[in-house]
This record gives sequence, C-alpha cells and structure tokens, in this order.
Amino acid sequence: MHSSSPGLGRLRAAVATLAVAALVFAAAGAGAQAVTTDDAFPVQLVTVDTPTRDHKDVLNDLGLDLTEHAGHDYVEVVLHSAADEEALRDSGLTWDVRIPDLMLLEARNNQVNREFSAATVTSPLPSGRDSYRRLEDYNTDLEALVDGNPGLVRPITLSRTSLEGKPIHGIEIAADVDTTEDGRPTFAMFGLHHAREWPSGEHSIEFAFDLVNGYGSDQRITDLLQRTRVIVVPVVNVDGFEKSVNDGLLVDLRELDGGGTASILGTPNNAYKRKNCRVVDGQEPLPGSCDAAKSPGSFGVGVDLNRNYGAFWGGPGASDVFADPTYRGAAHFSEPETQAVRELVASRHVTTLITNHTFSNLVLRPNGVAPDTIGPDGYPVGDAPDEQAMKDLGARMAAQNGYTNQHGWELYDTTGTTEDWSYNVTGGFGYTFEIGPDEFHPPYPEVIDEYLGAGEYAGKGNREAFLIALENAADATTHSVVAGKAPAGATLRLKRTSPTTSWDGSFQDTVDTTMTVADSRGRYTWHINPSTRPLVQARQYRVLSGEPIESAEYSGTTPPLTHTDQEFTVTHAGADALEVKLDWPTPDDMDLYVYRANADGSLTEVGSSTSFVLSKERVLVQAPDPGTYVLRVENFASATPTWTLTAGVYDMVDGTVPALIEAWTMSCEVNGDVREQKALIVDRGQRVKADFSKCRGR
Ligand SMILES: [Zn+2]
Repeated sequence: MHSSSPGLGRLRAAVATLAVAALVFAAAGAGAQAVTTDDAFPVQLVTVDTPTRDHKDVLNDLGLDLTEHAGHDYVEVVLHSAADEEALRDSGLTWDVRIPDLMLLEARNNQVNREFSAATVTSPLPSGRDSYRRLEDYNTDLEALVDGNPGLVRPITLSRTSLEGKPIHGIEIAADVDTTEDGRPTFAMFGLHHAREWPSGEHSIEFAFDLVNGYGSDQRITDLLQRTRVIVVPVVNVDGFEKSVNDGLLVDLRELDGGGTASILGTPNNAYKRKNCRVVDGQEPLPGSCDAAKSPGSFGVGVDLNRNYGAFWGGPGASDVFADPTYRGAAHFSEPETQAVRELVASRHVTTLITNHTFSNLVLRPNGVAPDTIGPDGYPVGDAPDEQAMKDLGARMAAQNGYTNQHGWELYDTTGTTEDWSYNVTGGFGYTFEIGPDEFHPPYPEVIDEYLGAGEYAGKGNREAFLIALENAADATTHSVVAGKAPAGATLRLKRTSPTTSWDGSFQDTVDTTMTVADSRGRYTWHINPSTRPLVQARQYRVLSGEPIESAEYSGTTPPLTHTDQEFTVTHAGADALEVKLDWPTPDDMDLYVYRANADGSLTEVGSSTSFVLSKERVLVQAPDPGTYVLRVENFASATPTWTLTAGVYDMVDGTVPALIEAWTMSCEVNGDVREQKALIVDRGQRVKADFSKCRGR
C-alpha cells in the first residue's frame, strides 16, 4: 500500500535527479580539492569495529562523537577533524568509512527535500507538512494548534528559558484540557534534546497533530484523550536546534556548480551540532558566542543534555571533558533545558514518557548501564524493577516500527539520560526512540515513512507505537490510583522529597503534584505513580562468593610479542566459576587466554580477555569442569613488564539489595492551608482509598 503513496513515488523521482547532482559534485569536488587547505577535513561517518565490550570502552574514552547506531561488534562515529581521525588511529581501533562527506550528503538531502517539497501539495503526515520545520515553524504550528482547538489544546511554556533566553514551548492536549489538575494520568513526549536530530521533533509534533485531527472522529483517539492528558514538547534544545537546522538547510550543491565555494561544504558550521549552547560552564553565553565558537561542527561547544539528568549522573558513558560530545555538564541538572523538563515531569504524574532521538531504529529502556556495573551505592546496578513490563511494552511498540527493543546499555553505557532519571525517580515508564536507520536528518520522505510506517510496517510506524505508549499511560494496571472523598474545591497534594543517587553523591529530588476536587459530592480519583521509586526497590544480582574454594597465584615476565603459559588444575567438581585475573603495574598491552587441556594434549580455548592498553584482564569461566587449564599471558607491548596472575574457583551467591518502602505525603489544602495530611503507600497496579474528612473550610 505504501509503495503507491505519493511520498515514496516522489522520493524515487528525486533520487534519480540526485544521481546527476552527485556527478556535478564529483567534477566540482576535484577542482575544489586543489584549493582547500590542509585543515579542510571532510566530516565523515565511520563504522568502528568493536568486537568486545572492552573495544567499546576504549572508544568511549576517546571522546569522539559516537552515534546511537551501533551493533554488538561496531559503533558508528562522526569524525569532525583530522585530530579525531588521528585519535582513532592511535587507539588501535579499526574502522570503515560509511559516509565520506556528511556535508555532501547534507547538500544532496537538501536537494531531494527541495524537489519533494516542490512536487508535494500535502504530504500524508497529519499536518500535511512536506519539509523540515525550523524553530519558528514549530512555534507557529504549536500556536495554531492552540488557537484552532479551544478546549482541546492549551499552551505550555516550560519553567525555564534556554541558555540564550528562548522560551521552550509545548502544548497539552486532552478533552476538556482547561480543566487542569483533574487527576488524569499524563503522557509526555519530548523531541530534539540533540540539536541535529531533526526527525525527533517532527515526529513529536506530528503526533500532536494526529491526536488533534483524530479527536471526535477517531474513537480510539477520542477515548484516549478523555482518559489522559498529553504533553508534547517537540524542541527541548531550542538554541542548538535553531543553529543546526538553519546551517544544515543552507548547505547547497548548487553552490558548488561553478566552483569556488568549497568552504560551504568544507565548513559544516552547526549542521551536526549535538549539544546545547553552554560555552563556559557556570556562565550564560554572551550574545553570538555559541555561533561564533567554531570548533569543527561547533560540536565541541555545549553540554550533552541527554547526559545531564540527575539519576546516575556522573557515571560511565558520559564525559567530564567539556569538548567531548557526551559532556555531562558541570553538575547534575546544571542546564536550564534539563531543569525545565525535570520541573515539568516532577509536577505531574507522567505515567509513560517517550523522548525521541535519531537514529538507529531502536526502542531503548532503562537502565543505561549494564546490570553488573557497580553503582554509586556499592552494589551492582541490576535490571530495572519493572524490567519485564517495560520490556513487554517495548516489544509491542517495536512490533509497529520494526525497531530493536533493548536496554539502553546494550547500545553502550550511558548515564544522566532523560528516562533513567524520569523512570527511577518518578516511576513512570520511560523510553528513548532512536528514529530511522542511518542518518541524523535524512531526506524528509524518510521522516514520513518512519512516522506512518512503510513496507511491512505500512499503516503502523511510530504513529502506532506512540498510540500504544499512550494506551499504557492510560492503563491503571501499570500505574497507581488513589481515590476517596474530599471537599469539593479542595486541593489535594502528593509530594515526595528523597535523595537521588548519582556518581557524584546524592541530591534531593522533589516530586510535587496537585489535583483539584471538582466533583460536587466530594469524590475524587487520581491516577498517580507508585509511592516507592524504582531507584530504591529491591534488586537481585549474582556475584562470586567471598573466598575461593581453591586458588593459585603466579608472577612472571614475558618479553614483547611472546607468551607465557601457566597450568592450573581445578580439582573441585560442581563449582560455579573459575576466575582468572591478570594484573601488571605499567600501562602496557597484555592479553589473557584460558584453555582447557584435553587428554590428547590439545588445547581448547574457554575464555579470553583482550582489552587495550591500561585495562586489566579478567576471564570468568562458568561451571568449570575439573581438569587442567592453561593460562596464557601474551605481551603486545614494547616493554617486559612483571605480571601477576591469579586463578580461583568459586561458587556464586545471589545477592539482594534490600528494598526501601517510600510514601507519598498526601495533603488536603483549602485556600492554601493544609487541613489534613497522611502518608500514602501505593504500589504499581494498586488502587488505594484515602478520605479527607477533616479537610473543611473554616
Ligand atoms: Zn540523540
């Protein structure tokens, strides 16, 4: 069905023209090369080989611009400069170039987009839009949705302006939207935390159009808008996005025709900007300073907003170096843009949240670090307490768009992300969507296809995935409900202030929400998040028991490019694990292999650890059979370091981080006076009763 849609047909026509454009570039490019200077480095997208987790860690430590496009043995990386390329080469990692010149691609995409837009009267998107919005287009569209739909759409402006002083606008959509504080659950959708990820804003606002269009005509949407309140903030990083889209849409192949403007393609300006406009930590940027800071791609400037949220802030997968792409900021919630989202989410019961990004076709869920990561509290971080439910919902959404449903950490480690904070601190389910297969901002027809679905997903796509998420937000079995009696007109308040752990110590996090008792007979129903935060719920882990059943220690030296073997015999049957560790004092490159010695004298490898320089090596063999093992130390360094090798046979023990039970402080207020207060404990899926008989006016 989709193949006959106007979107795809026009895309094909545009692609045919593109081939001609590419030829023009090839000719002009050859001439342009001659006049470029040595520092003209084509910004490129490369696929770095990362066969092991250690490779990913090494890559993470280089401070390069990692994309969300990664598999078990690769990560795609944007190289912005010759220095980036050199850092990658020096690390010993290998890579292939996938997109040799992102600016050329940008120019081609712009050409496709111009032609698509010229040939399209109304696209199949809910808004009919046929080209990428700029910041002012978003604001105009939000305003029009409000103005055209009284009682259904109301404006929301976040509590803080951006670093450059711009308002961050959103809308709230619900039946009887102006009856705020009515106890309905909230669904929240955010776009464009990362400046260059334009489709993430497009999908967010298109979903808003979809809901508005469907209200009153589509039974499912009408029903959902009666049961929930929907908040859409399409552009969180308003400063960064404005620069990215304004510069990106400027890149034009026609500039090359006739030659002499290689600089337009050679200088990406902000087209691939990721972060916000923090130029100096702790200081508001001077006018124009964010634009003026022309590091390659202006990518060195700013804080990564999706590493700046509070829960787990400061841990793995976020950099403390300002110029790095994943710079986490000077402190948790140091940026006004993340503070603004925090204050919005913490003032509501957001029972489900989606934050949109590009690209990689992923539905990501908490947590951002692997379960065996030792967390700030000294215990393994474990899986989210609601892992099964979030995994199931993720799978239902991924069945609509064909994306991969996985944990955040399965891409690579991250800390300080939106949903790691929102889920762990509010209890509302949270997801990151990585939209699209292969580009930060692909030709616009792809944006349409990802939203409406194409091929085997035609008629589904992110539209259907978002609706399923909205249904989850409405579903009381996945959140909590408090109901009872309270005087008509009274304000009910649910508040909880508690310490959120980060890798930088803990800080106080407050969730403070209200509803108004509207019913004249004094009955209320309030859809809320559970009282106990996922952050402090019990979690299971499995670790080596304290003392080995049997063990041995060896030391020795191994000359460069040779290896040394040690034999270790496991005599104990039925042990859970054989752990072999290799340690050495200097920053050299040594690898460790563990083999089982067979009866015929041959060796079978049962484990290896081949980290890079600086990392120590560890091999864990599960359920080792009794017998002889060969432990091989290989030295790839230029020196002859002394090493220590330990082998131990262990049983594993299950551990549990004990649970806390937390309560909401629930109060009934009349004219600002607290007349009655109680502690409310409620679990997910539970409905509890709370009457406020002493809460009366005087
Ligand atoms: Zn992103």
